[in-house]
Amino acid sequence: MPIHQTTSYVFEDSDAAAAYFNLQEYGNTYSRIMNPTVAAFEERVANLEGGAGAVAFASGLAAQSAALFTLLQPGDHVVASSALYGGTVTQFKHLLRKLSVELDFVDINQPSAWQGAIKNNTKLFFGETIGNPSGSVMDIQAIADIAHAAKIPLMVDNTFATPYLCRPLDWGADIVVHSATKFLGGHGTSLGGVVVESGEFDWSNGRFPIIEAPSPAYHGLKFHETFGTFGFLMKLRCETLRDLGACMSPFNAFLLAQGIETLPLRMRAHVSNALAVAEFLQTHTQVSGVHYAGLSASPYQTLVQKYLPKGAGAVFCFDLVGGREAGIQLIEQLSLFSHLANVGDAKSLVIHPATTTHRQLSDTELNAAGISAGTIRVSIGIEDAQDLIADLAYGLAAIT
Ligand SMILES: *Cc1c(COP(=O)(O)O)cnc(C)c1O
Repeated sequence: MPIHQTTSYVFEDSDAAAAYFNLQEYGNTYSRIMNPTVAAFEERVANLEGGAGAVAFASGLAAQSAALFTLLQPGDHVVASSALYGGTVTQFKHLLRKLSVELDFVDINQPSAWQGAIKNNTKLFFGETIGNPSGSVMDIQAIADIAHAAKIPLMVDNTFATPYLCRPLDWGADIVVHSATKFLGGHGTSLGGVVVESGEFDWSNGRFPIIEAPSPAYHGLKFHETFGTFGFLMKLRCETLRDLGACMSPFNAFLLAQGIETLPLRMRAHVSNALAVAEFLQTHTQVSGVHYAGLSASPYQTLVQKYLPKGAGAVFCFDLVGGREAGIQLIEQLSLFSHLANVGDAKSLVIHPATTTHRQLSDTELNAAGISAGTIRVSIGIEDAQDLIADLAYGLAAIT
């Protein structure tokens, strides 16, 4: 796969250039909007997720911002799961407020709460296949049905599951977003994000003039009427990506596409190691709780069997009996786990939220966020499971 390390493309002639800029023909103009290496990455992800197409971005949060900007206008309303990645919570709370978009967080486990939150101006439902860090599993089909009955699209962050474990579009989701930074790339080297759309949502249902009406940002083009199945994706690329500018670099597209070639092998190792480690932790006297949906005792077992039959991902939290001090001691003792703020790497990763990502919070505030002072988050890699268990056993034994 070649790396097209170029900003722009020599046009065949003036007519061809005009046709590309008018979107009468699809062709490369400038790499902020499209690039052949990035396109190869986009096609791979779209195929894996079963979507009509995909648009890549500089990071997962750039992909989410672009999807929000494409769909929403001031005065609109979004319903989102309360069990989301911290960066997404911050993005939704503050960025959406700046855009005068209203937001309600609802319990991911209660479809009736999603139904109850719908308003006349609701334009989007948003959740994660596997929630971070709670380990919740989304009932995608039930929530998609509620959304569609009200003519609302469902967007799902599938970062933790990847299309190897779950394909949300098959269960009725309309848009899938990824932080490709994590399992898709798989090696912790490159940031990237991607938006995939099914092409099946009816954007002409009266609720989305922003996609149906002539666009003042593209000399009056009607994206839905002109591009049909690809209307949303074309607007996402040719308007939002063009204007926000957070494009994926060709080199990152190359690295992320290489990662995808080993996705099934890695995911099989990730989930089998995660289950082995979770089962070990569950029996340890220093551990008071293990929040891994793949455990047979998990409240999410029924949903796991339906949506994640090959495994419940590889990122989860567990709680230490000894609280904050025990958390610090364990992290200090581990040698195979890297202590850092990422997930989805081939290497095993660990973090103690109370002393890092959630450092500013009091114990009461930590509890409100669903974690405790002794909570540890792990992202289980593809090493030998027995080595990982031995490292944890050594670290847990060293807690005084
Ligand atoms: C990391 C992450 C993001 C954000 O992705 P970036 O590539 O870091 O911008 C979004 N959702 C989930 C679930 C993540 O883990």
